[in-house]
Amino acid sequence: MKTSFQNIKGTFDILPEETVSDGTTIAGTEAWLFVESTIREVMGRFNFQEIRTPILEPTELIARGVGQLTDIVSKEMFAFERGDTHYVLRPEVTAPVMRAYLQHHLGQKGGVQKLFYIGPCFRAERPQKGRYRQFHQFGCEVIGSGDVRADAEVIALMTAIYRAFGIVDTKLRLNTLGDEQSRPRYREALRAYLAPYVNELSPTSRQRLEANPLRILDTKDEKERRLLEGAPILIEYIDEASRAQYEELKALLSDLDIRYEEDPFLVRGLDYYTRTAFELESAHVGAQSALAGGGRYDLLAQEIGSKEPVPSVGFAAGMERLFLALAAEGTPLPQPKAPDVFLVALGDEAVRWTFSEAQRLREAGLRVAYDLKGRSMKAQMREANRQNAPVTVIVGKDELASERAQVKIMASGEQVEIAIQDLIAYLKGL
Ligand code: AMP
Repeated sequence: MKTSFQNIKGTFDILPEETVSDGTTIAGTEAWLFVESTIREVMGRFNFQEIRTPILEPTELIARGVGQLTDIVSKEMFAFERGDTHYVLRPEVTAPVMRAYLQHHLGQKGGVQKLFYIGPCFRAERPQKGRYRQFHQFGCEVIGSGDVRADAEVIALMTAIYRAFGIVDTKLRLNTLGDEQSRPRYREALRAYLAPYVNELSPTSRQRLEANPLRILDTKDEKERRLLEGAPILIEYIDEASRAQYEELKALLSDLDIRYEEDPFLVRGLDYYTRTAFELESAHVGAQSALAGGGRYDLLAQEIGSKEPVPSVGFAAGMERLFLALAAEGTPLPQPKAPDVFLVALGDEAVRWTFSEAQRLREAGLRVAYDLKGRSMKAQMREANRQNAPVTVIVGKDELASERAQVKIMASGEQVEIAIQDLIAYLKGL
């Protein structure tokens, strides 16, 4: 019988210390907290508010929102049923945020909702470096604005976050997908162009040719890429308003000195995008180089039941990819916290005293550790060292009698005697 368990493939534990799991380095908890708080800080500067939605969502929301024909919905959902309810572990957060916006009538408050999120997502993909089955996304949504400045602001926010971490060696790819009227015309043109080559296409692309030919544009297959060199270009088919908006977006990005590359083949893997689409790539992250992506999704709200269109734009980014980029830059990250002080006790009486003294020091705001295994003084000192405690307070029978403790500064080995009643003030002054 199997007696030990391992985490599910494609998931990982975040431990206090950095760990290596399936050949990938997973940062420790303090590093995650630091990265999350930096993200929150930058989101705050752009005046976004945090939203937290459930991990479980109705399967139909994701199927309709993300699109039946996408890889996410057709192949990668962790979905199950209980009774009459169909549940899915959310594979992304945009559709859930839009659901919450509609459900709570956030649009009735007037104005534009600017929301951000950080949390786990789930996709049944083939796990590899930078690609997991449970991963973490952060992202933002500007809901209720069709103004192209919202698109520019979302891109500015996304780039500001990576800049805050010193990740500047990135490439921003930009495209416009036009509106719902122009896209069918392009779809037909692309289909007509590819039809004579149908036998040279991969089975996946052949399927897509019928259902969703735009997705062929982001193929990684070299042969297909060569075939596409002469393909019609989306921008030549799109409507005047989308084109004008795209020009305006590029001008706004230039105003902010945000460099971009236009990529007419950028389509993104989710069906809800209209007009603006973008992706941020790292120069260093290798095969899984997409750090973040997003775009405008003016049709999503109606797709999931809104009577009114709700023009919106956002981005989503992978936390694990951000950590890969940080590792590639050699950025130092916070390590597990050391205690401010380690109490070392000699003899039963002192052990008893340490227990309540720890509480007194903790109430004064200090981070306090002591031995919980009943070990010798030497072993207690070793433990204090292992935990990187900068100071130990050593107390035995004599110290208790005189109400004075031995305080040892670990780095220098210097030892001083301090009255126990002055201990808090002394430790805080160090
Ligand atoms: P998407 O919505 O698919 O464009 O995903 C947005 C971002 O999430 C990507 O650019 C990646 O950084 C990250 N991401 C998506 N899928 C995964 C995954 N399976 N594992 C890790 N990160 C992912």
